[in-house]
Amino acid sequence: MSGERILIVEDNAMNLKLLRDVLQVKGYRLLECGTAEEGLELARTEHPDLILMDIQLPGMDGISALHELKRDAKTHSIPVIAVTASAMPMEREKILAAGFDGYQSKPLSVKEITAEVRSVLDARAGGAA
Ligand code: MN
Repeated sequence: MSGERILIVEDNAMNLKLLRDVLQVKGYRLLECGTAEEGLELARTEHPDLILMDIQLPGMDGISALHELKRDAKTHSIPVIAVTASAMPMEREKILAAGFDGYQSKPLSVKEITAEVRSVLDARAGGAA
């Protein structure tokens, strides 16, 4: 059922640990980094099945990184779930409008993360490779 490869781009150690613990238990294989720049590089070279992208990152932010991913033919089909500190409804709309495939707000909920990761993976267009 699982075993898909997920790239986590998160600069906060506590959130990274939570995401790692939750996803490893479910059997996903993880790639991790703390900046958008590293995330873009890993996405291009490793082609993960899904990316969890923090919005507030040092250097390039998560929204700019999403735009880079969507511009690159090597990465444009990888679904990306935004992870953000803001739970404001306006912010959520803005983030989904930016083109993310999903949205998780901090404080992160284990139940919601696992459900959304599974649902976004299952919804991948074509489901190939
Ligand atoms: Mn952050």
